Amino acid sequence: MKKILLIHTGGTFGMVPVEPSQMLAPPDIQDQVLSHVPEIQQIARVDFSVIFNLDSANIQIHHWQQLARHIYENYPRYDGFVIIHGTDAMVYTAAALSFMLPGIRKPVIFTGSQRPLAQIRSDARSNLINSLELATHPIPEVAIFFGTRLFRGNRTLKISSTHYDAFDSPNFPPLAEVGLDIEIARHLLLKPGPNPLALKDALDTRVFSFQFFPGLKPEYLKALLESPLKAVVIEALGVGNLAVQENSLIPWIKDFTRAGKLVVITSQSPYGRTDLNLYECGQMIQDAGGISAHDMTTPTTIVKLMFLLGQYAGEVGRVRDELTVPLAGEISPEETENRIQE
Ligand code: ASP
Repeated sequence: MKKILLIHTGGTFGMVPVEPSQMLAPPDIQDQVLSHVPEIQQIARVDFSVIFNLDSANIQIHHWQQLARHIYENYPRYDGFVIIHGTDAMVYTAAALSFMLPGIRKPVIFTGSQRPLAQIRSDARSNLINSLELATHPIPEVAIFFGTRLFRGNRTLKISSTHYDAFDSPNFPPLAEVGLDIEIARHLLLKPGPNPLALKDALDTRVFSFQFFPGLKPEYLKALLESPLKAVVIEALGVGNLAVQENSLIPWIKDFTRAGKLVVITSQSPYGRTDLNLYECGQMIQDAGGISAHDMTTPTTIVKLMFLLGQYAGEVGRVRDELTVPLAGEISPEETENRIQE
């Protein structure tokens, strides 16, 4: 029987209503899981660890480091890992781990729930059972299971705060679908490289992001120029467009990049990719120094910048070169080819 480590980090999954306020509080997760879902022992030999217990909005970089280290240290002893995590920040943590644990050959599956396990009609039970089942299969990646689908973690977005199918990966097909049977899209899984698992946990948080909107005044961005930031991600319109006439952002992009910092353009449209060659304003952004994130999600772009800045000790030139090179399946390879041909 396979051995799985079930790591609890918090979120709605393990909460229970506490009288009289009905506030949610964390109980002893192992007892709760075993009393509600005793059959997990039929799927695998499951060990538990609770490394922290947080609403995922409170997750910090040192929590990612703690989690990555925990998996790294326990890696030889288990066939797979399931991580119970709050849904709100799940895609950020999954993206971080996909970069921090290069060479992973075992499944690392994030899951959580919209309703606590102890509640009637909770989705926690089926999410847990299916995640554990999937973690017994040869899936050599960091993934998110929710509802009925398994997604590549660094391609995923939380798309609903209420639906049980709360996640989607708009620019990459699901890695597996769970219905009557479990169907794994093996051809989509990452091919493990020759190098053994490593722990790369240096991260640099001098990254900022904002969403562009019509009427945004560039003067509000001036403070960013004087800040210690190394990179700003602008979630732009469509294929990566921003105002370049009235309230033009071009002078600000020029100043920011001349100061040796990076401006990276993602899109507010979850489907598709940024292409700064398509419109005049995109071309102007590119000429001013803006970098296209192609089909990377905004959360993954932010996390990848933190990771690369951490790996290259804040050396912006190297980060710029590496940003669109795939590290863990987070960007489509043909996007990189386009970049090289440009
Ligand atoms: N606020 C919770 C969290 O992200 C929501 C959830 O778990 O679904 O921790």
